[in-house]
Amino acid sequence: MTFASQPWARPLPPSRLSRFSLLWLVPAVLFTALALPPAPPSTPPTPSLLPAPEAEQSPMPQAEGTETKPTPPSQTALPQPAQKLIRVGLTSRGGPVALWCKAPLVITDPAQPGRSLAVQAEEKVTFAFGAVAQVAVPGAVPGKANQFWSGPLQIRTASGTSGAWQSALVSRENATNEEFIRLTSDGANPRWGRPYRGALEVTPRRVVNVVEVEDYLKGVVPWEMGATAPLEALKAQAVCARSNLLAKMAVHRHAADGFDVCDFDHCQGYPGAANEKPATTLAVEQTKGLVLFYKGRVADAVYGTNSGGITASDDDVWRGKPTPYLRGVRDFSPKLHTTMAAVVKPQMTEDDWAAYCAQNLPAYAQPGAAQQTQLASRRATSRRVALLFQPSDLPEFYRWSRFVEPTTLAQALATQPALKVKMDSVTEIRIVERAPSGHIKKLAIFGVCFEKTPAPLPAIQTVAVRQETSTEPPATGNRQPATGKPVSVVLQGDSQIRAMLSGRLGSTTALPSSTFVALPQRDETGALQGWILKGAGWGHGVGMCQRGAQNHAREGWDARRILQHYFCGVEVQKMD
Ligand SMILES: [Zn+2]
Repeated sequence: MTFASQPWARPLPPSRLSRFSLLWLVPAVLFTALALPPAPPSTPPTPSLLPAPEAEQSPMPQAEGTETKPTPPSQTALPQPAQKLIRVGLTSRGGPVALWCKAPLVITDPAQPGRSLAVQAEEKVTFAFGAVAQVAVPGAVPGKANQFWSGPLQIRTASGTSGAWQSALVSRENATNEEFIRLTSDGANPRWGRPYRGALEVTPRRVVNVVEVEDYLKGVVPWEMGATAPLEALKAQAVCARSNLLAKMAVHRHAADGFDVCDFDHCQGYPGAANEKPATTLAVEQTKGLVLFYKGRVADAVYGTNSGGITASDDDVWRGKPTPYLRGVRDFSPKLHTTMAAVVKPQMTEDDWAAYCAQNLPAYAQPGAAQQTQLASRRATSRRVALLFQPSDLPEFYRWSRFVEPTTLAQALATQPALKVKMDSVTEIRIVERAPSGHIKKLAIFGVCFEKTPAPLPAIQTVAVRQETSTEPPATGNRQPATGKPVSVVLQGDSQIRAMLSGRLGSTTALPSSTFVALPQRDETGALQGWILKGAGWGHGVGMCQRGAQNHAREGWDARRILQHYFCGVEVQKMD
């Protein structure tokens, strides 16, 4: 049974089809396979603006699909209508790139029409990047290998009969894993590399996977949600990922980089075909072409790992105007979950938020026993997971805690010149503004700045740096020289607050979310030792909560109901 046969998969009106067709991109170059003659070297292309080197694979499902809103449209040429191909920029570690395939490969150079290089099955092809980029292929003429290089090289399997991109992708329809091109960028055995559907394009600075949209989604869905989720949740994830992709392509956020989307959290996590599973592939196939629309436009269907119980409105965590379909929802049933209903009141005080963040409250975002068991075993076997999750944390950071020391916080502030604050010691964290979802919008940090290099601390002296509006007890016993000048800074927005209060200077690991309370900790003399941050949720909290979607599916919701629960006023439409 196809997904299109279901009642909620309505066909798209013709007016939308034409706009949709403009989103697709296809390379316009056809290639002819011939022997490789020598040719003069030429200047490598300009380095790309690729993001930071790839991090280790996440120990748990990725935190979220999108952390930022789309950038405004650029003036690049519109994609050509045709084959539903997209270009995915693959993150590189910066070292040599090696390709390997069980099937024969063909390398072509669009800048030198009529030339190509055949690579036998299981031969390793290495692209060395540097001042002189070169391709090393077993059997190539010694000393002439680098002469092949003059720009992007395109690599595909040789099974395409005409040598065109399209043929390689048509043959992909019946491809087995043995026909996937495997890529490794760290010089390791290419047999360990990630497999990719479609074709690859190599430049001196990047590798781009040219792949059909539905095949791309088969790689995204298992990475972003995991194959063990209920099918209806996986289908909701597939529709989100497809809509998210199209919304990002429409604003050309990576136009300057030469591709449509990147392969990590900035756009959506995409490890190629490495994680494909039958269940997630089925979810993609059953939702083929289905996209979320809001008032005739593709909706940017963002999603995150765990909302903590209440999803966020986009303008509460990101800059920009409110998006009508990205409104926060309280994701629990008062009838079923009276405990949560008692805690989450119509008007929340800071004490209420402290109770909310401290308790393992029953909501749809709450992970189950299986996730508890999985986290416990992974903490035991993975040092990285053990460092990332504290013993008291719940899976997916549904509830979490961190300890932040004043000195660490002061050092973190010092790394951000844009804040224009010099704070030698931090004395108070104060929540200034909080969204209805619990996400902190503004947070003030108070401290002192020494006029000069401070003299050795006297026995006990206290500087009152707290403002009269503070509701916290005075910082009695806080040992600071009398010369300290009170200073303060206000942090704004989800990403800045999460980065500055991570409590792990030098780490790229931000706080799991900006929904938290800061509880000051003092020693027996009253001296401030730091703050325990107790928080809820993992990710920006906007859009679909992936854990919540899975729990709704287990209660019998279908994908359409899940999507319309998290995205206000959207329609699910088929477009192909
Ligand atoms: Zn990106």
